[in-house]
Amino acid sequence: VELPPEEQAMIERRRRLLGPAYRLMYQHPVHIVRGDGVWLYDQSGKAYMDVYNNVASVGHCHPRVARAIADQVQVLATNTRYLHDTILGYAERLLATFPDALGHLMFTCTGSEANDLALRAAKAYTGGQGIIVTECAYHGITQAIAEISPSLGPNVDLGAHVRTVPAPDLYRSRNGEVADQLRRDVEAALADLKRHGIKPAAFICDGVFSSDGVFTEPAGFLAGAVEAVRAAGALYIADEVQSGFGRTGSHLWGFQRHGLVPDIVTLGKPMGNGYPVAGVVVKPSIIAEFGSSARYFNTFGGNTVATTAAMAVLEVIQDEALMDNALKVGAYLADGLRELMSEYQVIGDVRHAGLFFGVEIVGDRQSKRPDASLTAKLVDGLRERQVLISATGPRANVLKIRPPLVFTRDNADFFIAQLRAVLAAQPGA
Ligand code: PMP
Repeated sequence: VELPPEEQAMIERRRRLLGPAYRLMYQHPVHIVRGDGVWLYDQSGKAYMDVYNNVASVGHCHPRVARAIADQVQVLATNTRYLHDTILGYAERLLATFPDALGHLMFTCTGSEANDLALRAAKAYTGGQGIIVTECAYHGITQAIAEISPSLGPNVDLGAHVRTVPAPDLYRSRNGEVADQLRRDVEAALADLKRHGIKPAAFICDGVFSSDGVFTEPAGFLAGAVEAVRAAGALYIADEVQSGFGRTGSHLWGFQRHGLVPDIVTLGKPMGNGYPVAGVVVKPSIIAEFGSSARYFNTFGGNTVATTAAMAVLEVIQDEALMDNALKVGAYLADGLRELMSEYQVIGDVRHAGLFFGVEIVGDRQSKRPDASLTAKLVDGLRERQVLISATGPRANVLKIRPPLVFTRDNADFFIAQLRAVLAAQPGA
């Protein structure tokens, strides 16, 4: 696409200043200056519907969260080495949403750091090193976590202690089930670690398998795999960076859909609605070993402004009944997408939990041939219609839809209308 000269200049400036590792979304990148609820605005005031950003989960620039941050930063902005009420009040309030066994909360700034800390704790507790992840998992950016994030691609080496298992993909499953298959795959990974003399430390997975392609059904499918992991003396780490804080509608936490109590839970993205705050929730017995042999100080993690932001987010989720909204509007949007599926053969599958969707785009329904090129056209076509979305999965053919939890039925109608128009413009769709 031919870009206006000022946008082209900005892209070049970015490249010159930020270097080669950053990526922009869309063939025609979006230059935004403001956010409000489910909308992002460019300089001319043009509105873009954000159906993708899982960070601004209670809505962009939510006034209550923004005010709480602004008020706190004028009063006190410092670290966890002092007594302060907010960190304790927040810990009490957050831990009350978890099963009783998960009794401690530790703070980090990013999901990557949370997963890094979770691995350190799991390794200290089990004495093992082996980690099992799904084939296209993403857990973050540190050296240790990049080594367990196969979605970063073949140029980033997985650690020698890492084993991957196929994601629980019901749509492409050969025998029409995923629970027993995942259990068998995890058992095979454990056996392979053993063969190599590597003691297992943990199985870590995203509650909705977002980078693997979004796999949500049937709820409960994780139980057998986790049983196998525990039987081998390893831990189950629930990465709730994507699936946490009410997005799945039925529960605050993704692992609850599976009827499980994880050993460690990691949190991030929506926790501060854009303010960097993340954390680890853990069984006291599991962190005991790590805590007695190592001290933990994270300069910005759990600072007074971060915990204030997190408190405001949790209050908004509860006071505005956003989980209930995710459940209801999620079901409504699912109906709309399934109606589209009856009109367009290229939609192979619609799956979701609450307001987290994966929509599989295929060449034809019989072969289920993934169509990454059409998926990219849909993503860019929607951007031209001012709807911001992206794609995921190992074959880049799954539309990933995660609007802010304040998404309304009207918003869903608007989104479906735009997607229908983009599909109608594709030859052969
Ligand atoms: N885990 C999952 C499942 C994620 O999606 C991400 C971020 N995309 C992370 C961890 C890492 O979080 P952060 O970018 O805050 O380090």
